[in-house]
Amino acid sequence: MNKQYDAIIIGAGIIGAAVGLELARRGWKTLNVDKNGAAGFGSTSNSSAIIRTYYSTLDGTAMAYEGYHYWRDWAKYVGVEDASGLAHFNECGCLVMKVEHNGYLQKAMQLSDQLGIPYRELNLEELQAFIPDYDPRLYYPPKRPDAEGFAEPTTGMLQGAVHWPKGGYVNDPQLAAHNLQRAAEAAGGSFRFNAEVVAIRQANGRVCGISLKNGEQIDSPVVVNVAGPHSSKINALVGLTDKMKMSTRALRQEVPYVSPPAHYDYTKVGMVTSDSDVAVYSRPASGGMMLLGTEDPDCDPRDWVDPDTMDRNLTDEAVMYIMRMAQRYPQLGIPNQVRGTVEAYDVTEDWIPIYDKTDLPGYYIAIGTSGNQFKNTAVAGKMMATLITACEAGQDHDKDPVQYTMEYLGRTVSIGFYSRNREINQESSFSVLG
Ligand SMILES: Cc1cc2nc3c(=O)[nH]c(=O)nc-3n(C[C@H](O)[C@H](O)[C@H](O)COP(=O)(O)OP(=O)(O)OC[C@H]3O[C@@H](n4cnc5c(N)ncnc54)[C@H](O)[C@@H]3O)c2cc1C
Repeated sequence: MNKQYDAIIIGAGIIGAAVGLELARRGWKTLNVDKNGAAGFGSTSNSSAIIRTYYSTLDGTAMAYEGYHYWRDWAKYVGVEDASGLAHFNECGCLVMKVEHNGYLQKAMQLSDQLGIPYRELNLEELQAFIPDYDPRLYYPPKRPDAEGFAEPTTGMLQGAVHWPKGGYVNDPQLAAHNLQRAAEAAGGSFRFNAEVVAIRQANGRVCGISLKNGEQIDSPVVVNVAGPHSSKINALVGLTDKMKMSTRALRQEVPYVSPPAHYDYTKVGMVTSDSDVAVYSRPASGGMMLLGTEDPDCDPRDWVDPDTMDRNLTDEAVMYIMRMAQRYPQLGIPNQVRGTVEAYDVTEDWIPIYDKTDLPGYYIAIGTSGNQFKNTAVAGKMMATLITACEAGQDHDKDPVQYTMEYLGRTVSIGFYSRNREINQESSFSVLG
């Protein structure tokens, strides 16, 4: 007889592990299946893992602020010992530059006001007290190094910044996924690694299980696609790709690490920064390094890839991000040999995730996390468990969207916001900023 579970979750990344955990804590017999050898070894392992609360929509902001609380109380959320230790949330705060491109952060501050998220506006002098010698001249629009005017200031100065103290980064995103695996196991959940899903089986008009590459079949009336950058490949297994308005694609990303400018004590006072004028974000990384990521400006071609054949070597793109950051920190050295990681986001048309059911009964999706959902891990897991439980009990989520009440904020939101059939959300930043 084929093995039987109440729900199979394809993927044991941070979101997949959270979905498994939340269903297991509701008494479901769950199995997370992953083709990698351990939890969080997919795109999660190379996440920048920044926890921030500035988003372009009210729902996105609320979810991020709710998500922040679980990172702050991580040990409580995990609730069990993990012999490997617990991931650590370094609450170093986030500093975001005010530029015309982001509307001088007026909307983000207004959303923070609505939700009671603390922040402080900084003038240039105060900004430079946080980051000594930060060059405040504008360089907008971001350019490529071979473009005329690269690294030459245009006109004007930054209009200061906003400091959100409730933010930071998680030091080891892979370990965080492992923590959730241990928590799910303690709640009765199971995990299978080195197990590639090659088919999703159907019977009587609904899902009935999966088949693995080794020929093994595992039965379950519920299958959840949480396959990260592979999400569209998993949807293709059930022929659903053209049956939803939203779609997902893998976008290659290079994330270099550099030695921080020597003139300030980065390990002590370094924080998350986001600077849309030069299109680079940063955060402290292990070994006293500074991690840099791109905000994907219009001048850079988007590198849509097949995650299975993607080039995992850093290229001149990574060097370019360092050069862009050096516009702010003239002391920043450009290393001869750049270190860092190459990974893929799983991106939707509006860079907002899809947390939804599908047209195939029993088949659910938590995909399209668009480079910005690590912070929302626990909330995503809880929303998916709420959605799946309600739908399996007969609620028609498409007609009567399932509601979710946030445990910390006490705010009730419609999971329909993350629908696979939504119109493209025009309030989005259409970038990793969500
Ligand atoms: C470079 C980068 C930086 C980021 N920075 C941030 C940030 O600062 N803040 C933030 O909030 N978010 C960030 N994100 C986004 C965040 O990391 C992701 O949203 C999150 O890690 C996705 O988790 P996941 O579990 O959905 O996917 P993954 O971690 O990719 O897990 C999917 C799993 O599915 C498995 N799988 C795929 N196909 C199959 C199959 N056929 N059979 C079995 N298993 C399969 C894979 O092996 C993989 O382990 C970033 C992402 C990247 C790539």
